[in-house]
Amino acid sequence: MPHSRAKVAALPPRLQGLTALVTNLSWSWNREARDLIRSIDLPLWRQYRHNPILLLREVAAERLEELASNPDWVRRYDRVMEWLASDQQNERTWFGRRYPELTTRPIAYFCAEFGLHSSVPIYSGGLGVLAGDHCKQASDLGLPLIGVGLSYMQGYFDQRLRGDGWQEDSDEVVDPDSTPLVELNGPDGERLLAVVNTFGRPVHVRIWTMRAGRVPLYLLDSNLEENHPDDRGLLNKLYGGGLDLRLRQEWILGVAGVRVLRALGVAPAVWHANEGHAAFMMLERVRELTAAGTSWDDAVAEVRRTTVFTTHTPVPAGHDAFDADHVLACAGPIWEEMGASAEQVLALGRHPGRADSRFQMTVLAIHLAGRVNGVSQRHGHVSREIWHDLWPDHSQDDVPIGAITNGAHLATWMANPMMELLDRHFGPDWGDRLDDSSLWEQLRHLDPAALWAVHQELKGTLMGFIREEARRRFATQWTEANQAVAAGTLLHPYALTIGFARRFATYKRASLLFRDPERLRRLLCDHRRPVQIIFAGKAHPADNPGKELLQQVFRQSHGSFFEGRVAFLEDYDMHLAHALVHGVDIWMNLPRVPLEASGTSGMKAALNGVPQVGTIDGWWEEGYDGTNGWAIPLAQPSDDLEAQDGHDAEQLYRLLEEEIVPLYYNRDGRDVPVGWADRMRNALRVAGSRFTARRMLIEYAERYYVPAMRGDPFPDDPPRG
Ligand SMILES: *Cc1c(COP(=O)(O)O)cnc(C)c1O
Repeated sequence: MPHSRAKVAALPPRLQGLTALVTNLSWSWNREARDLIRSIDLPLWRQYRHNPILLLREVAAERLEELASNPDWVRRYDRVMEWLASDQQNERTWFGRRYPELTTRPIAYFCAEFGLHSSVPIYSGGLGVLAGDHCKQASDLGLPLIGVGLSYMQGYFDQRLRGDGWQEDSDEVVDPDSTPLVELNGPDGERLLAVVNTFGRPVHVRIWTMRAGRVPLYLLDSNLEENHPDDRGLLNKLYGGGLDLRLRQEWILGVAGVRVLRALGVAPAVWHANEGHAAFMMLERVRELTAAGTSWDDAVAEVRRTTVFTTHTPVPAGHDAFDADHVLACAGPIWEEMGASAEQVLALGRHPGRADSRFQMTVLAIHLAGRVNGVSQRHGHVSREIWHDLWPDHSQDDVPIGAITNGAHLATWMANPMMELLDRHFGPDWGDRLDDSSLWEQLRHLDPAALWAVHQELKGTLMGFIREEARRRFATQWTEANQAVAAGTLLHPYALTIGFARRFATYKRASLLFRDPERLRRLLCDHRRPVQIIFAGKAHPADNPGKELLQQVFRQSHGSFFEGRVAFLEDYDMHLAHALVHGVDIWMNLPRVPLEASGTSGMKAALNGVPQVGTIDGWWEEGYDGTNGWAIPLAQPSDDLEAQDGHDAEQLYRLLEEEIVPLYYNRDGRDVPVGWADRMRNALRVAGSRFTARRMLIEYAERYYVPAMRGDPFPDDPPRG
C-alpha cells in the first residue's frame, strides 16, 4: 500500500473526505467534483492553475470552516463523496457487466509518458496525453488496466521566450507533494525497489504511484542514494540526452516495469506497449520464461499471444534504433540465461531486409507482439507499407498490422458549458447513451443560436484567460512591451479566431500561412471581417530547426505588420490546451502529408463544436465528411517539399478567403452565423460518435484485450523476413 503523507493542511472534520478527493485524479473529469473544488477558493484555483492539492494547502482555515457550516455547500460535498465511493467499484461498468469473469485479469499498459492533468507534469506531448486519456477511459469503462511508466521528476520544461522569440527551456523540478504521487511500499511494508542491470551496474528503481479513477499508475524513478551518482538522474528527463541515455531509460522502463508488477504480485493477462519505447518489456518476459525452462520458441509464442503493440510513428526514421553492440552492453549477457545466443537476441530487433544492422525497437515489438496496430486508418496503411518487407511473402494489404484510430476523452476535453447544453438537448442521462449512434444524430436538431451562445461564452473565457496570463508575465517576466502584444492582448473577441497549437516540429508547418505575408495581411486586417490566429507550442529542447520555426512565427506576432492579430502563447500544456480547444472558432492542422500518424487536438476541439481546417492526414482523412470543417485537397504526390508546401498554402488561403471567412461572418438577424453553427454541430456530431476515447477503448477491448485474456485462438502471423 502507498504510505500516506500529509499532502494538504488540516481539514475541518466534516470535510475530511477532501483529501481522498484531490489525491485521485478522477476529480479532474467529474464535473461536480471539479466545480466543488473550484468553489473552495476561485482565485487560488486560478493562481495554482487548477492544482487542487496546492489549493487545499493554501486555503485559509476560516474559509474551510465557513464552507463546512454552509448547508448547501455541504450537500454538494456529500454528493461528490458518494460518487467518489461508488466510483471505486466496477460491477456496473461497461466491462464489469459484459465480461464479469475477466475483471480480475489485469492489462499492463506501458508508456514512457502519461499526460493526465497539468498539475502532474510528467508528460511531453501528444503521446502522453493520449496515454492519459487511455487510462481515464479504461477507468470509466471498468477495464482492469494498470499504467506503467517513468516518473520524470524534471521531465517537463517551462517554455520561456526571449524578447527575440528564441525558446529557452527552464527545468521545472516536480515537487511530488504538490501532486497525488506517493512512493509505493511492497507487501512487506518496506519501500518497494526493483533492480535492473545496465552496462554492468545495478540500478535500483523506486516507484511512485497515483490513481486515475480505478486505474493505478506505477512510475519508475532511479533517484536513490543506493545508485551510482551517474545513475540517479537517469529518469529525470523525458527523451533527454542522447541515444545512450535513451537506451538506458527504455531498458529500465521495460525491465523494471515487469519486475515491479511481479514484486506486487500482479499477473497481467495482457501486456500493451504504447509506442516502441516500452518494447524491452517483451524481451524481459521472454527472458523470464526461458530462464524458467521454457524453450525459446515457446516463450516467443507465449509473449506474442499476450502482447499488444501500438506504433505511433509514420516515418521510418522516427523509430528508435540503437547500435547492436550498445544494446548488448546495456543488457549484459542475458542470452546466457535464455539458453540462446547473443545473435538470436539481436535478431529480434534487426530488420533482415535492410542493410541497417541497428537494433530497432519497433522491429523488436513487431517480433514479440501478436497484435500490432497504427493509430488511424491511414497510419495503419502507412505502417503496412513501412514494415511490408518483414512479411516478404505477403501482399501489402495482408501485412498483419491493423489500425485503431485514436480518440479523445470526452469528460476531460469537453467544456462544462458544452456539457450543460447537451444536458438540455439530449436529457440529463446522455452519458449513459454514448454508444447509441442515434444520440449523436439528434444534434442535427440542435438550436444554432443556443450552440452559438455557448461558444461565445467559451470564447470570452479564452480571451480573459489570455489577458490574465499576459498580465502575470507582464508583471514578472517581460522586459519589452511588445511581448504583451505577442501574447494576444490585442486580440478581439469578435474576430474569427484560428487556433494552432502543437509541437513545433517542422513537418507540422506552423509557418505555412506566412508564405505570402501580403495576402495573409489582407485576410487578417480586413476591418469588416477580421481574422486572428493564436499559436502555441514548444519545440523539443534539442530541435534547433523547430526552435527557428518557432522564432519565425513569434516574430510575426511581435511587430505591427499584422496589427496585433497574430498571437503566440507561451508554455503550451494541458491547461492551455483546454482553454484553446474550448474557445477558438476554428482549429488548424497542417501536417505535411503523410507525416501525422493521427493527431488528437482537432478531436478535442471538435468535441467543443470547433470545426477543423486541415490537410488530409491522420484522423482527418477518415474524420472529414464535408460537413464538419474543411480539408485541403491532397497535392500531387512528389518529393518536392517546396511544391507541396506551395500547393497546400494556396489551398489554405483559398479556403479561408472564399469559404471560411464568408461563412463565419454570414449572420442572421440575431447576429448568429447559422451556416457556421451547422458546421459546429457537425463537428460535434462526428467527434462524439466516432473520435472519443470511449470508442477507441472499446475497440482495443473487443479486438485485442478480451481475446488475449481469454486465450482465444488468433491468426498469429509472425514476421518471416
Ligand atoms: C492533445 C495534445 C497534444 C497532441 O495534439 P496533436 O494534435 O496530436 O498535435 C499535445 N499537447 C497537448 C498539451 C495536448 O493536449
